Amino acid sequence: MQAAASSELSAEAQEKPKLRIFLCAPRGFCAGVVRAIDAVEQALRIYGAPVYVRHEIVHNKYVVEGLKAKGAIFVEELDEIPDTTKPVIFSAHGVPKSIHAEAQTRNIFAIDATCPLVTKVHREAELHFKRGRQVILVGHAGHPEVVGTLGQLPKGSIHLVQTPEDVEKLEGVDESNLAYVTQTTLSIDDTRSMVDALIRRFPNIIGPHKEDICYATTNRQEAVKRIAPIVDAMIVVGSSNSSNSQRLREVAERSGCKLARLVLRAEDVEWDLFKDASSVGITAGASAPEVLVEEIMNAFAERFELDVEIVSTADESVFFPLPRQLRPSAGVTDLKDLPDFEEEDVEIHGE
Ligand code: SF4
Repeated sequence: MQAAASSELSAEAQEKPKLRIFLCAPRGFCAGVVRAIDAVEQALRIYGAPVYVRHEIVHNKYVVEGLKAKGAIFVEELDEIPDTTKPVIFSAHGVPKSIHAEAQTRNIFAIDATCPLVTKVHREAELHFKRGRQVILVGHAGHPEVVGTLGQLPKGSIHLVQTPEDVEKLEGVDESNLAYVTQTTLSIDDTRSMVDALIRRFPNIIGPHKEDICYATTNRQEAVKRIAPIVDAMIVVGSSNSSNSQRLREVAERSGCKLARLVLRAEDVEWDLFKDASSVGITAGASAPEVLVEEIMNAFAERFELDVEIVSTADESVFFPLPRQLRPSAGVTDLKDLPDFEEEDVEIHGE
């Protein structure tokens, strides 16, 4: 009986079509996302539920639902918080200065989980402003990181541009006194074109040595560029509101992959589209947990006989310690401090 069952099973396995999976590395969580999620979990441990979180702590519904189940309450604005004795955590994307001021006015205990690499961009913008420059921000309108960066400076001193056409149309700027900063999660190639457009129109513009695109965005895009041209299809695991995940899908398409899909979970995969594929690349945005990559791999394994190869294009060992208020007091002296970005730390091209 057992022998019959196992021969049926192996017959079934033989019937599955073969599929090569190229798994991008690095993929998934970056150091800023790990820190932000840890911040919420640590706040829940220290202060007990509920702990409020302004905006999705990172752009991933699975992560957000998991934290809700542990006692986090997500709000979009501080005036939705009824109990000001409980802490509120600001998301990894950063917030305008007005939000810090509002928390102070209402005496709300705010814990800032802004990624230190976003904070670095805020400091760059502030430094330019302090030196009397107008600032141009390259980014996507409405994204919380962009809202946060725009909110570091008074209105009128920072201008958002999204396309080279926006650069051409920019008016009312002091051409001899300009600087630029960028969103951290943009496409590397698009940003290069934007910077070229800025330098063409404003030859004296000052900017960072490299764009402000972070290491995690860069590494994930490079891995996709390696894999996308050699596979029939690419899957990017991530949320549709995750900027870096959306960019990974675009990068896959632009690198020559005819079918690139962004999916949150296995149930979102349109299996019909993959039925004739002989190779698929898989990556994950910086806010997508590895458990969802595994879920999708398992769903492929149910339908195909897999041959999995990991393609690694960079090693990552970046770690950011928790926000100060959440560090265990006994260990504080042993932990590296959060990077404090002094003027000399902000690399500015042309100075
Ligand atoms: S994607 Fe980059 S900037 Fe955003 S949280 Fe991660 S490390 Fe920080």
